[in-house]
Amino acid sequence: MKYIIIGGVAGGATAATRTRRNDESAEIILLEKGKYISYANCGLPYYIGGVIDEREKLFLQTPQSFGTRFSVDVRVENEAIKISPQTKSLKIRKSDGTEYTEQYDKLLLSPGAKPVRPNMEGIDLDGIFVLRDVNDTDKIKNYIDNKNIKNAVVVGAGFIGLEMAENLHHTGAHISIVEMGSHVMAPIDYSMAAQVHQHLLQKGVSLYLEQAVERFSKDGEQISVQLQSGEALRADIVILSIGVRPEVTLPQKAGLRIGETGGIWVDEYLETSEKDIYAVGDAIEFPHPLTGKPWLNYLANPANRQGWIAANNIVFGNKEKYEGAIGTSIAKVFDLTVASTGLAAKRLKQMNIPYRSSWTHSNSHAGYYPDALPLSLKLVFDPANGKLYGAQCVGYNGADKRIDQIALLIKNSGTIYDLMKLEHTYAPPFSSAKDPIAIAGYVAANILSGTMPYVTWRELHDANPSEILVLDVRTKDEFLMEHISGAINIPLDDLRERINEIPKDKTIYIYCAIGLRGYLAIKILLASGYSNAKNVLGGYKTYWAATAPICNNPIEKNPMIEQNKNTPTKTLKVDACGLQCPGPILRLKQSIDSISEGERLEIVATDAGFSRDAQAWCNTTGNKMISNTNEKGKYTVVIEKSVPQREQKANLSGGHGKTFIMFSDDLDKALATFVLANGAAATGEKVSVFFTFWGLNVIKKTKKTKVQKDIFGRMFGLMLPSSSLKLKLSKMHMFGIGSRMMRHKKRG
Ligand SMILES: Cc1cc2nc3c(=O)[nH]c(=O)nc-3n(C[C@H](O)[C@H](O)[C@H](O)COP(=O)(O)OP(=O)(O)OC[C@H]3O[C@@H](n4cnc5c(N)ncnc54)[C@H](O)[C@@H]3O)c2cc1C
Repeated sequence: MKYIIIGGVAGGATAATRTRRNDESAEIILLEKGKYISYANCGLPYYIGGVIDEREKLFLQTPQSFGTRFSVDVRVENEAIKISPQTKSLKIRKSDGTEYTEQYDKLLLSPGAKPVRPNMEGIDLDGIFVLRDVNDTDKIKNYIDNKNIKNAVVVGAGFIGLEMAENLHHTGAHISIVEMGSHVMAPIDYSMAAQVHQHLLQKGVSLYLEQAVERFSKDGEQISVQLQSGEALRADIVILSIGVRPEVTLPQKAGLRIGETGGIWVDEYLETSEKDIYAVGDAIEFPHPLTGKPWLNYLANPANRQGWIAANNIVFGNKEKYEGAIGTSIAKVFDLTVASTGLAAKRLKQMNIPYRSSWTHSNSHAGYYPDALPLSLKLVFDPANGKLYGAQCVGYNGADKRIDQIALLIKNSGTIYDLMKLEHTYAPPFSSAKDPIAIAGYVAANILSGTMPYVTWRELHDANPSEILVLDVRTKDEFLMEHISGAINIPLDDLRERINEIPKDKTIYIYCAIGLRGYLAIKILLASGYSNAKNVLGGYKTYWAATAPICNNPIEKNPMIEQNKNTPTKTLKVDACGLQCPGPILRLKQSIDSISEGERLEIVATDAGFSRDAQAWCNTTGNKMISNTNEKGKYTVVIEKSVPQREQKANLSGGHGKTFIMFSDDLDKALATFVLANGAAATGEKVSVFFTFWGLNVIKKTKKTKVQKDIFGRMFGLMLPSSSLKLKLSKMHMFGIGSRMMRHKKRG
């Protein structure tokens, strides 16, 4: 029997070795158009970034060693250029241009995929690369080694794009990522990708989301990357990573059926529309086990599995069926791990498949054991029976094992209830007695059973503020640092005592840090007759990540933070790792209280919100942030104890300084006061403005935080100007014309 395999990497190399194990006497020819076979294409970005230090390590086999070990006729730099299914023959071109023909009994195609390179102005400029194989890798590496790369632009924020961003960052370059979609990493949902956005920003990467590249042009030694928004980025190197398409040129010309998604059509035995021709890997489309619809899945594991199955079927006849892949993937993005399996909520929505989602935030292992790091998990499941559709995990340690377990369950039609039953290995360094996926299962079950009325971050975000009351049940300190606009704060421990403050006729959205205290609060309210209270799934952590602005101003480079590494007189070191919010910030407060003014506190925490909380805490208390760094999921802040700003009394009398009293809300008098105050400030004087009861109308905002008012408060509200825009002139107001003229004049 004579087998020919086209493509010598993931699917092809696996198929060749399995065929040999199946049939010792067969003639096997492996054709590869490139110079290398069986190499680690998944390792290429890491070689470029220097993480894999030796190029040789990328090659698992040489053509010679592979040929000898498996008795396979390996022909590199031999490209199959024509298949003739009727005569079962193949035309092949060698690198010197000569062509020859080979007959086959069975043919297996594993030609992979080719990177998308759009037809765009300037696309062929020197310095613009795609990454698919060793050849591309050598070109990129050589370019980096010979140029001074200060700015790199990565176009496309898929897995390979992000891996390249991280690895180019290792070379010291500043990275900008341009992505047309609303978030990085297409297989996951926005709320989970949003955590990756914040991590990238913290690492100093600039993000340009919902932005498309219009053209490239030369700008001196650099490349100008022109975005459709009008903005242009300057780059020393550009990596194009905007996706791949199945390599189907050869089978298409031979008349093989191409499926609706553009991949080679195969049946469940991985046989193409032509008898005795099989196909595997990135080039094929196959029905998704959850939707039944054909899809393309560019991953190494399915390519290897398909190669193994197809090799069995070409030798033993069509006996083994391929079950299909649900899309289980993982990527390292700087310190984060992002893993997912199955279908994301956004895909289910596109397909009009009903679903529910849950968000949970746990520790990778027991919080009291060192180095416990946060792990966020999103489940997507069928509202009717809890059947699992998909899961996404963002964390530092242990994201892989959680997603792998869930993937196995999904492939076996598992449900959220199976997550609760999973028996997992446990000791403090590895997990908790209740593993994060069990917790996710319990929360999902509460959602389906109705025991926890809930609302998603998006529903909260889109809600009409006048129709809901947002209740924050975190501690007062947590609330003061940051909270959702318009929320009122009743800490969980005070809730029973203060329950009368909560109206019964309103819909109440309750949130805490991650959803647990919110759930307990819901139980208290339900027991007291509140039928319309809902818990915000995933709490403030999910809401914040999903709604935080993309601000290309990394913490590391924040000019507000003094990167002063001088050793202070005394530094107290505190380890708050493993504590979840508000634990770290409470430790910070207690520790600062225990040191004297001028001394410093160095505190390390693993809660992802800690660096932001610490910055907000310093802003409100007047303590001085000395440095704020993060590495491998640990956030280290150094704070110098200072006199709180609110205690620095304004110089109201005597010495240098002026105090103005704003006693009227007449527009002309208010403007006069500000003009005088400005003038005094311009001379270097310290200026204070004191606002009386009437004067306070001058600084009333148009958008106000909702507060509960008694009858007098409401009456005053009706009688006084609703905002500074409604102030009147003391003379010549003329139904508002005068004050509008005055404002216009001032703006001019
Ligand atoms: C940079 C990079 C990183 C990746 N990282 C990951 C990862 O971390 N995890 C993961 O699961 N997947 C990853 N992938 C994807 C994974 O490598 C592919 O899914 C997998 O290699 C597909 O296997 P394949 O056999 O279908 O195609 P390939 O492995 O691409 O092999 C196809 C081979 O066929 C050859 N060929 C094509 N046409 C012909 C012809 N006419 N004649 C002769 N030879 C031909 C090509 O030269 C090529 O060498 C990564 C891919 C890249 C490029």
